[in-house]
Order: sequence, then structure tokens, then C-alpha cells
Amino acid sequence: MQKHFHKIIYAIIFLTLQSGFAQEQLYKKANPYYSRTAVNVLNVSNTEWKKILSKPLYQVAREGATERAFTGKYYKHNKKGVYYCAVCGNALFFSTAKFASTCGWPSFYEPVRANSVHYRKDFSYDMERTEVLCARCESHLGHIFNDGPLPTGKRFCMNSICLQFEPLTN
Ligand code: FE
Repeated sequence: MQKHFHKIIYAIIFLTLQSGFAQEQLYKKANPYYSRTAVNVLNVSNTEWKKILSKPLYQVAREGATERAFTGKYYKHNKKGVYYCAVCGNALFFSTAKFASTCGWPSFYEPVRANSVHYRKDFSYDMERTEVLCARCESHLGHIFNDGPLPTGKRFCMNSICLQFEPLTN
């Protein structure tokens, strides 16, 4: 028993690191506002976010940039799980709402809850679009269009960098 003890400890550490909880703790270390359970609305300045977020994430989430089509890590991602906000940890989309879109960005037909996201009119680039923002941290996530599949007919066209996927473990 004793000579296998360290193997058991390694196994426990390995399994713990694999779990979403351990992942959340890692994110929290780098970002004190990160939480997958909190529902409080965040009021954090961009000066503060700039210190916390990576430059590419800051540019999309806080400055409304768009990642190039067909380049995002979740565009062709089909695993079962939950997509969280990469800025604050708010649960945004279930993988069951993801559909194969040809637009070049990961697309969903509905958010986890109606109030998981906010909407704002966006008139940039001489277009009239509706911007989708995280309801907890007000970060830019992408846009919503009316050409999605049933049951909603909506296409939440998201930037992969603003999402963090956590697989279902069972
Ligand atoms: Fe957020």
C-alpha cells in the first residue's frame, strides 16, 4: 500500500486538475472577477480589464474587434459541454444549441438563459447589426442574426476567443 501511495496521490491530483472546478480556480487566480456561479453584475473599468486579459481577448471583448473568419478555436468544435464567458465565467451557451454554420464563427441558436446576454444596436462598418454582450461583464461576444435554425431562427455568431469551453465529464 505504502509504495503505491504516491501513485494514488498523483492520480487524485490528475483527476482534480481535469475537473472544471480546478479549471475555474486556475482562471480565478489570474482574474479575480472570474466566477462560474456568481450572478452579480460586474462594473470593472477597461483600464482594469487591460491588466487582466490577454491582448487579443481585450481587443475583441472590450474593443469590439472581430476575429478572422474560420480561425477561431471553436468554429468546428463539436464536444458536449458548456461555453462560458472567457472574461468573467458567466455560462453563455450549451453545446446542444451549437449548430454547423458556414459563416466562419461558432454559432448557437440560443443562450443558456434569456438573460445570460444583453443586446445593443451596432451601426459600425455602415451596417445595422445587433451586438451580443455578456450580461455579467458587458463584454462584446459577437452579433445575432435572424438566419439561424429552428427552434429560435436566431444565429448567435460568436468570437471563439470570448468563449471558454468546459466538457461534460459524465
Ligand atoms: Fe462575461
